[in-house]
Amino acid sequence: MSRNKRRKEEKRIKDADLFKVVDSTLDTRTYSDLYYISRKLNIKTIYGAVSAGKEAKIYPALTESEEWYAVKIYYVSTASSKRAIERYTFGDPRFEGVRASNTLKLIEVWAKKEFKNLSKMYDSGVSVPKPIYVHKNILIMEFIGDNGIRAPLLKELRSEDVNEDLYKTIIDQVVIMANKAELVHGDLSEYNIMVFDGKPYIIDVSQAIDLTHPNAREFLVRDIRNINSFFMNNGINVMSETEILTRFIK
Ligand code: ADP
Ligand code: MN
Repeated sequence: MSRNKRRKEEKRIKDADLFKVVDSTLDTRTYSDLYYISRKLNIKTIYGAVSAGKEAKIYPALTESEEWYAVKIYYVSTASSKRAIERYTFGDPRFEGVRASNTLKLIEVWAKKEFKNLSKMYDSGVSVPKPIYVHKNILIMEFIGDNGIRAPLLKELRSEDVNEDLYKTIIDQVVIMANKAELVHGDLSEYNIMVFDGKPYIIDVSQAIDLTHPNAREFLVRDIRNINSFFMNNGINVMSETEILTRFIK
C-alpha cells in the first residue's frame, strides 16, 4: 500500500470509530461536518445523545487528551423554529443583513448566534459552558457533567439541593449577563440551568437578546419571574422583583 493510500485507510478506520452509537436521525451532510470538526478538535469518540430537545440534540464527545465536550446539533427543521429565529434575530443589530434564504441557513445563523452569545457571556464572567467552536449547524462547548454523564437541570435537582445560595448565585448571573455582557437570556427557567457541584450553569442562549432590543426589559422581567416562582415553589425566600430590578444599571 502506498503511503498516501495507507493514510487514507487509517483515516477511514478512525472515522468509522468516531461514533459509539449510530444515530439514524443524522443525515450524511451532518456526519461529514462532524468528521471535519472531530479532526479539527482531536475528538476521538462521540457518544449517544444525552438529550433531544425540540430544536437540538446534545452529544458528549471525548478528545484525544481526554477532555469532554458537548456537541449541540441544531436540526434542519420545523416551521416553528424558523419563525422563532426570524422573531429573535429581527431588530438585532448583530444580525442585520443576514438574509437567510432557507431553513438550513437560518439554523446556521441560530448556531452562530448561540456561539456569539455564549462567548460574550463567558468573557463577561457569566457561568456558562465554555464555547469551543461552531461550524454550520453544530456548536461545540464545554461538557457540564462528569465522564460524559450530564449534570442535572435545576428542574431535576433533589429538593434538598435547591437552596438560597443557589438562588442568589443564579440571580447574580442574570445581573452580570445584563450589566457586563449586555444580554438578556429570554428563555430562562429551571429547564435552562444545569447544576454541577452546586454551581449553576446557564445554557441554551441562542435566543438571548441585546439590551438595546425593544423587548429586552419585558424578557428580563419574565426571566426573573420564572426563577422566582421556581424557588418560591421550593420553599425558598426570594427577593422581590423590584428589589432585583434595582441591580440593573441600564
Ligand atoms: P434545547 O432546549 O433547545 O433542546 P439546550 O441547549 O437546552 O437545547 O440543551 C438540551 C439539553 O442538553 C439540556 O437540557 C441539557 O440536559 C443538555 N445540555 C445542554 N448543554 C449541555 C452541556 N454543555 N453539557 C452537558 N449537557 C448539556
Ligand atoms: Mn433548553
